[in-house]
Amino acid sequence: MTTIRLHNTKTRKKEVFEPLDPANVRMYVCGPTVYDRAHLGNARPVIVFDVLFRLLRHVYGEGAVTYVRNFTDVDDKINDAALARQKAGDPRSLEALIHERTEETIGWYHADMDAVGALRPTMEPRATDWIGAMVAMTADLITKGHAYEAEGHVLFSVESFAAYGALSGRSVEDMIAGARVEVAPYKRNPMDFVLWKPSDAETPGWDSPWGRGRPGWHIECSAMAQELLGASFDIHGGGIDLQFPHHENEIAQSACAHPEGSFARYWLHNEMLQVEGKKMSKSLGNFFTVRDLLERQVPGFLIRMVFLMTHYSKPMDWTEAKFRQVQNELHKWSYLLADFTEEGGAPSDALIEVLADDLNTPEAITVLRSHYANGRYHQLAGDLRFLGIWNGESPNQVSLLYAHDSFQRREITDLIDGLLRRIDIARNVKDYAEADRIRAGLTAAGVVVKTTKSQTVYELAPSFDLKKLEALE
Ligand code: AMP
Ligand code: ZN
Repeated sequence: MTTIRLHNTKTRKKEVFEPLDPANVRMYVCGPTVYDRAHLGNARPVIVFDVLFRLLRHVYGEGAVTYVRNFTDVDDKINDAALARQKAGDPRSLEALIHERTEETIGWYHADMDAVGALRPTMEPRATDWIGAMVAMTADLITKGHAYEAEGHVLFSVESFAAYGALSGRSVEDMIAGARVEVAPYKRNPMDFVLWKPSDAETPGWDSPWGRGRPGWHIECSAMAQELLGASFDIHGGGIDLQFPHHENEIAQSACAHPEGSFARYWLHNEMLQVEGKKMSKSLGNFFTVRDLLERQVPGFLIRMVFLMTHYSKPMDWTEAKFRQVQNELHKWSYLLADFTEEGGAPSDALIEVLADDLNTPEAITVLRSHYANGRYHQLAGDLRFLGIWNGESPNQVSLLYAHDSFQRREITDLIDGLLRRIDIARNVKDYAEADRIRAGLTAAGVVVKTTKSQTVYELAPSFDLKKLEALE
């Protein structure tokens, strides 16, 4: 069996991955707070952990991996978005607006992440479906002396957990100095964090032993991981921005509520995405969503390949130059994929070897390039498919997709479709000379037309010449 090595943030070492149960390998990844479209950075953990999911399924078996990624659908940002809509004159109740917003956002998220070739996780729990488990865990933490109630809030007492800060390797004093912690009069220690908070009549809330309220963000993940994966599981992932305080708090809650378990044994964190060397931010004007790119007709698979060029543990830069490079490379390759659409896409040993080495996706791209350079097209096709860069669709679409800019792509498809229709019409009226003329013109322009029993497909040769095609009209 392939040996997988992963860099474990918890031990700061690359370790051999040994699952607790090879027949049920379990991974939890923190999912999005669903109040708005996913920005490009949000796609990074999705793609990184999708590659890991694919690798684990390959090594342990498709049915042997449980991947849980939650939706945080109760959060003050969601409430604020709904409130803003109400203030702007929407007559509906806050509850209806919140529900509409979260449903809509989950739909967008699915569409956008499908487009970048990510498989859906095994389970995608919504926080609001697991409030009972969060209340029970909170009550248990109070009983065990790790949490206390104050002014309708329940707070976790960080002093009650000696290992607090171990994941990020910081002392509580350092954390207080460095963090933006909410100072509140009811906190015994400024680092104590909220497990439960009160809701007013207008804010979503559930009954609890501490009055009507809602859970804090951190307890959501601890409760859902416990319910769906148990007290001990294999991998926990998320962006490095979540390491502190979110993941420290998850560990504190879970370790104290379930001292019998180990919670996650391997912690993986992806570094952040930047744009043209700068932090992505609304104020810098370089903030964009996955949907913005898709709407510019940038194929999702191309976005995916740009992401894979950088190792997950390194900051990644999204640049137009990289995007162009990938576009050219995929165009060359996609033309070769025509012969492999029917195949399953078994990955090469070389690919699995580099992925098993702490998900070395930049090396995976090197493997793809060497397949191409050495004429191993069958393996190139299999590896592109395994990496989720190509989904096996028909080659004419692939080459069209990768080759040209959005408006050009549409123009080319329309032109070719129109000319193919004219061939049909000419044949119908027995004007074979005209049909042959157009057909020869298409060939001269680098459009390779193949007629099978059921359909006519076409692909663009590298010699494709748009001017010649336009001249045929
Ligand atoms: P959020 O909805 O903000 O909690 O983020 C969802 C996921 O996206 C988390 O795993 C974050 O760590 C990750 N994330 C947010 N911003 C970025 C970024 N710029 N680059 C990479 N990952 C990010
Ligand atoms: Zn989480």
